[in-house]
Amino acid sequence: MMNSIGLKQPFMLKAIGICATSLVFLFISCKRQLSHSDTRPPNILFIMSDDHAVNAISCYGSRLSDIVPTPNIDRIAREGMRLENCFCTNSICVPSRATILTGKYSHKNGVYTLSDALDPDQQNVVKILKQGGYQTSMIGKWHLHKEPSGFDYWNVLPGQGRYFNPVMTDHDSIIRTYNGYSADVITNLTIEWINNRDKEKPFFLMCHFKAPHEPWEYPDRLKDYLTDVEIPEPESLWEDKSHRSAGSREYGFTIETMAKRQVRENYHSEGAQDFEGLKTKEVRKKTYEIFLKRYLRTITAVDQNVGRLLNYLDENNLMDNTVIIYTSDQGYFLGEHNYIDKRWMYEESLRIPFLVRYPPDIKAGRVNDNIVINTDFAPTFLDYAGLNIPDDMQGRSFRVILKGETPADWRNSMYYRYWMHTTRPAHYGIRTKKYKLIFFYGLPLDMTGASKEPTKIGWELYDLEKDPKELKNVYNDQEYNEVIIELKKELLKKKQELGDTDEKYLELLNIQQEYF
Ligand code: CA
Repeated sequence: MMNSIGLKQPFMLKAIGICATSLVFLFISCKRQLSHSDTRPPNILFIMSDDHAVNAISCYGSRLSDIVPTPNIDRIAREGMRLENCFCTNSICVPSRATILTGKYSHKNGVYTLSDALDPDQQNVVKILKQGGYQTSMIGKWHLHKEPSGFDYWNVLPGQGRYFNPVMTDHDSIIRTYNGYSADVITNLTIEWINNRDKEKPFFLMCHFKAPHEPWEYPDRLKDYLTDVEIPEPESLWEDKSHRSAGSREYGFTIETMAKRQVRENYHSEGAQDFEGLKTKEVRKKTYEIFLKRYLRTITAVDQNVGRLLNYLDENNLMDNTVIIYTSDQGYFLGEHNYIDKRWMYEESLRIPFLVRYPPDIKAGRVNDNIVINTDFAPTFLDYAGLNIPDDMQGRSFRVILKGETPADWRNSMYYRYWMHTTRPAHYGIRTKKYKLIFFYGLPLDMTGASKEPTKIGWELYDLEKDPKELKNVYNDQEYNEVIIELKKELLKKKQELGDTDEKYLELLNIQQEYF
């Protein structure tokens, strides 16, 4: 049978049927897409460098900002938020990484020093994200001694790893050597993993650079970078430390110690052989210059690779459904107080960069000065994922802070503790927005890898509003007596709340009794 426009009836019905079915499919598929993007939690890209000081990120503003711009890292802040008061709770690589994964302080996750391993059986945020439907991945520097757990995919450097032609081990225990510079290789693998991921699931990806960790080897393309530039010195490079307490003033990893290492490790092409016959001041100056140029070249290599990652996300429509974070495991001294390295509770080592971009939540160009600590990272990831935060995590999600609202009961102080006790003595303390009180107890306790000799005991107080660079310890200044009483109370309260009560360390309890 033909209809009025000449099509056979059954064909017509079939066509109507196909059209109707197509419409239904189109509707379902639209609906699925809508519900997909409406309800699906965002991807999380966590980019972490090793030892990246706030002073070496141009958007933070420092003496180095104009000399070594970091435009790509800055872009995250420009299009998102920069945290001004983000701190680590134990300023050393391995413990900080364990804290980020567990949301717990060292005394709760058992990773106190460089020598401790994170037990793969311990609960961590990645396992929870994976159970909650995320595809999880870890690429680059791991450094937690035992194998990563909770990741669908991992490919990591063994221990510190190499800067050039890095060897990496993956989740199938396959060991491969990758040609090239570590930051370039880690970025290549990161992009490759994102490209090949299961696109039905949101991803949680940790991209961890080895740079700018010592010995600061940089790619050949940057060998002439900064050659003719004079690197500005920090005021405290020449600090007279007599204002400090006995607990700190004689200790530390100084630029002069570095000078010997530069010669030992043959930084000859950079002038390290010229130290002989130089006066102390010249050795410090010259060593500082060599150290900073090497360090800053690795920073530029990292920045270039952050640019590559952001370009990839741009091109693949992943910029606005991904929470992009840039941070470091701790801060770093770049000659301030005549120090290199980290570990101390002083600002350069305590403060860490934290830049985050996620347009649905975060308005562009925001800066926030609430006190955020690295135990807060894991709860924040879970908050973005819409998953429950376990009660035993000690941090708190700061997602609302990123949205621009500070909860009325947000913390006003943070507790810090460096356990390892080496040439940097064991200490703990409290920091508010205005003050920092540090107690150097100087005992190895039962820490693995610690020096056995106790060091001198001492208190230090810094008035951070008047003295942000910590050049004047005011602990013995009577004007601060009331402040000290309040801060000691707050310090003991924090220790109690966090369960860091030193019950098993009688020798420390005795010292505390005497000195508080
Ligand atoms: Ca580190």
